[in-house]
Amino acid sequence: MFNKILIANRGEIACRVAATARRLGVRTVAVYADADARAKHVAACDEAVHVGGSAPKDSYLRWERIIEAAKATGAQAIHPGYGFLSENEAFANACAEAGLVFIGPPASAIEAMGLKAESKRLMEAAGVPLVPGYHGADQDPALLQREADRIGYPVLIKASAGGGGKGMRAVDKSEDFAAALASCQREARNSFGSDAVLIEKYVQRPRHIEIQVFGDSHGDCVYLFERDCSVQRRHQKVLEEAPAPGMTPELRAQMGAAAVAAAQAVNYVGAGTVEFIVEQPEGYAHPEAMRFYFMEMNTRLQVEHPVTEAITGLDLVEWQLRVASGEPLPLKQQDLCIQGHAIEARICAETPDNHFLPATGTLTVYRKPDCTAFERASVNSPAAGVRVDDGVREGDTISPFYDSMVAKLIVHGATREEALARLDTALAETRIVGLQTNVQFLRHVVGSRSFAQADLDTALIPREAAALFHQDKVGRPLAVAAAVAQTLLAERASESADPFSRRDGWRPHGITVRRFDFEYQGEPLLAHLSYLHDGALQLTLGDVSGVLAFDALPTDTGTRMDLHFNGQRQTVQTWQVDETVHVFCALGATQIVAIDALAHAGEAAAEGGRLTAPMPGKVVSFAVKAGDAVKKGQPLAVMEAMKMEHTIAAPADGTVAELLYAPGDQVSEGAELLKLSVG
Ligand code: ADP
Ligand code: ADP
Ligand code: MG
Repeated sequence: MFNKILIANRGEIACRVAATARRLGVRTVAVYADADARAKHVAACDEAVHVGGSAPKDSYLRWERIIEAAKATGAQAIHPGYGFLSENEAFANACAEAGLVFIGPPASAIEAMGLKAESKRLMEAAGVPLVPGYHGADQDPALLQREADRIGYPVLIKASAGGGGKGMRAVDKSEDFAAALASCQREARNSFGSDAVLIEKYVQRPRHIEIQVFGDSHGDCVYLFERDCSVQRRHQKVLEEAPAPGMTPELRAQMGAAAVAAAQAVNYVGAGTVEFIVEQPEGYAHPEAMRFYFMEMNTRLQVEHPVTEAITGLDLVEWQLRVASGEPLPLKQQDLCIQGHAIEARICAETPDNHFLPATGTLTVYRKPDCTAFERASVNSPAAGVRVDDGVREGDTISPFYDSMVAKLIVHGATREEALARLDTALAETRIVGLQTNVQFLRHVVGSRSFAQADLDTALIPREAAALFHQDKVGRPLAVAAAVAQTLLAERASESADPFSRRDGWRPHGITVRRFDFEYQGEPLLAHLSYLHDGALQLTLGDVSGVLAFDALPTDTGTRMDLHFNGQRQTVQTWQVDETVHVFCALGATQIVAIDALAHAGEAAAEGGRLTAPMPGKVVSFAVKAGDAVKKGQPLAVMEAMKMEHTIAAPADGTVAELLYAPGDQVSEGAELLKLSVG
């Protein structure tokens, strides 16, 4: 085993590798860019070397600098993580030339699998099933058009050098092919520096099922079962699970054997993933009819490797380090087995309701679900339940320089149902304020009919769109109640116990009403809070009205409370950032803007001698007549609004100058009820 390794990556994967290294007693060197000077991955390693500016090309992709850093710190090997240099055969070669071990496959295997078209030619020769298509070297547009026509529409044009879901075009009919080809080639040239493409039959309602393989330098190769990564957006994975629902032992054995054959065809060493596209001609309820085709091989550790760790109880980074240091594979195929079910959710900084647009910002609040069971377990075990892999801490920034992934939430259960329930709870307990994330969207996906029934295919998200986008499970009444309650709690905490100095509208005589202005889902929203004689609070918004009750619960930041309103009782946590109140509870999360709350914090508005109606309603009675002297707090009038009576009290000592309405009159909000001469 190595004494010291350099981790040529950042974020969660660098932290992930560092954790295993630490457990094995291997010392670690981090590299970092300007933007990451105080990043979690730097703190996770024993030492760190600054390698340049924030843009990847100035830092994490500068492999000469990284190799220099490894040599200067005495590291014996480099772990590339995923992304960045992980699939760069020139870098793998440069490591070898510098006398460093590249913790990954031989450069020749990376190269062989690097281009989709060439890897397909190799796989064809190795007898691995391919999607019907064209992957030849001849790129004459007329020939490509003829091939597409021969394959039959719809087809998918893919950049041979593509990756990360980029450089793909689906084409529905022959007339559209030429234009799609030109645009795919343009994108491929710009993104990958090569415009070579291949064409595949577009598999209908396909599933993405991939096999984790592991090879060693003694010629052994095993498969660690499959992962289903069918839930995707923009051809990128959102949820991954293992094992694949509906997988039969026969199909698993066939796919495993095909994946091992693929790896052995390129003398594979280390962790790799063979991705298959799986056709389900009879639908998800008939897995026996599923057919699989090779898509590509990723010659690295994959983002979703933790689900495999969860079901096998193994640490794949440990296997990588052992294999790279020349040890044989720790287990043989017959020793490997599947325990339970695991699901990973990728928490990303993005706006699902706006075409998944990536978001940036500061993690003002970043609360993770309870992972203590996992942290106590030395390796994954079925008891571990919930695991979070991340590379950020509260207060960190998600910058535009790198990936939008904030964290990965991995749950494990005895069954898929148990894992699903755990995932929903873990997502509900994940609380992020400061930037837009897909956490609530993920909860909607997990709760969707298709996902719950394991009716999986790559079109799950568009198919379930109506249940996934523009959802707010908290709802208006609870959001308003939470925002009002948190305002009152904050005021009580910050003001003196003297009731006369309190701003929350409390008065010794009669009922006062306080108005709250909100903006909720882009719409203005008005709420009124009445202080009843018995000390209870009545909250009214539109046609919803009821008693509001809340008790503060202990919390380190923000506000936590037991909240009752409108027939609901929830433990609610809120954080207010500027005017926005972020509301979290078991139902979901939402935001509500409290517009200038304190400016409206007065009781029935008293401006000089004006006493106005706090809401539209009916004048029930006046307790005074013109010429009466009144004391501050003395009841002046009773109004009825929203099915309740409200008493208007004198804001100060004075004399009633004039009553402007008679009992029974309807008044609009803000109408002046009587004139009061103050003083
Ligand atoms: P696939 O290649 O099948 O899409 P993954 O979903 O594992 O496999 O990753 C897609 C690619 O996205 C990776 O090769 C990597 O380059 C990039 N990527 C994903 N997440 C991150 C991240 N957090 N940091 C850097 N790169 C990432
Ligand atoms: P990348 O290198 O970007 O990961 P892949 O070839 O792995 O590219 O494909 C990414 C995704 O695109 C797959 O997971 C699948 O959802 C979809 N896809 C790829 N090939 C096909 C196909 N022939 N038919 C239907 N969908 C496909
Ligand atoms: Mg892929």
